[in-house]
Amino acid sequence: MKSFTYERVQSPAEAAKSFSKTTGSKFIAGGTNLLDLMKLEIETPLHLIDISKLGLDKIEPLSSGGLRIGAMVRNTDLAADTTVRRDFGILSRALLAGASGQLRNKATTGGNLLQRTRCPYFYDTNQACNKRNPGSGCAAIGGYSRQLAIIGVSDACIATHPSDMAVAMMALDAVIETVNHEGEKREITIGEFYRLPEKSPHLETTLEPGELITAVILPPPIGGTHIYHKVRDRASYAFAVISVAAILQKDGSGRIALGGVAAKPWRKKEADDLLPQGAKAVTEKLLEDAKPTAENKFKIKLVERTLEGILNKERSLYEI
Ligand code: SF4
Repeated sequence: MKSFTYERVQSPAEAAKSFSKTTGSKFIAGGTNLLDLMKLEIETPLHLIDISKLGLDKIEPLSSGGLRIGAMVRNTDLAADTTVRRDFGILSRALLAGASGQLRNKATTGGNLLQRTRCPYFYDTNQACNKRNPGSGCAAIGGYSRQLAIIGVSDACIATHPSDMAVAMMALDAVIETVNHEGEKREITIGEFYRLPEKSPHLETTLEPGELITAVILPPPIGGTHIYHKVRDRASYAFAVISVAAILQKDGSGRIALGGVAAKPWRKKEADDLLPQGAKAVTEKLLEDAKPTAENKFKIKLVERTLEGILNKERSLYEI
C-alpha cells in the first residue's frame, strides 16, 4: 500500500474545502471498498479525509412525509429502521441482500452509492482497464463477461454497478444531497447521479471533484407491495447476476428497477407503464437497446423470468 496522510474533519463544508486544498485527496467513510482498493494500489490517495464524525448518521422524518438519510448512516441501521421497514420496505430488503452482516455494520449510505464495480479485470492490475487506467483498453470485452453489463455499455467499458441499495433507491426516486467546497448545497436525482461509461468509464457519477454526499432524500412513501429479488450464484455474500426491485400497486401499476445489468441502476418510466401487459412487455421496453455479449445474453431472459415470478407467482410471499 502507498503511504498517505490522514485527517479527521468536523463539518461537511470543512471536508469539501480540505479536499479542494490538498492534491490527491479522497474521502473515507466506512472504508469497506476503498481500503481493499488501496491495498491493491488501484486507488492511491495521498491524503484521506475522514468524514465519520460529521453528524451525518441520522435518519430524520421530513414534513413532506419523506425521509432524510444521513450519508454516514450504516447499512445495518438503515435496514433495521422501523420507518424504513414500514414505509420503504424495498430499501430494507435490498440492503439485507447485500454484502455480509459484518460489512453492513461498517458500510455507509454514501459509500454504498459510491462503491466501485466488481469487474474482475478492474481488480487485476495486470489487465487493461479503461476505468482503472483511462485509455488502456478493456480486457472484459472479448474476455470473461458473464457477470457484466448488457445495456448502457460502450466500446470502452461493460462494467456493472454493484450496489443493491441503489437499485431500491432508483425505484423510490431518491435524491442525493451534496455540499461543495464553497458550502453550496445541491440535490441530484438518482437517475442523474450515475453516468454511463461512454468514452470515460473512470467518471462514474456527476459529482464534481470534492463534492461531498451529505444525505439521501426519499420522497413520501407510495405504499404498495415492495419486492427486491436478487439472483446470485450463491445464497449470500455475492453480487447480483441480476436483481429486480418492484413496487407494485393493487391497481396493476408500479415501478421496476434492475440491478446487475448496467453501470447504473436501470429504470425506464415508460416500462413501468407496461406493467399491466406483463413481464415480457416490461422487459422488452427496459432492455430494448441491450447489447449483451455471447456470455451474458442469458440475463435478458433471466430478467423476464424473474419479473414474471414476481408478478404472477411470488407476489403473495412479499405482501405486507
Ligand atoms: Fe475495466 Fe470496465 Fe473493461 Fe471492466 S469492463 S475491464 S471495469 S473498462
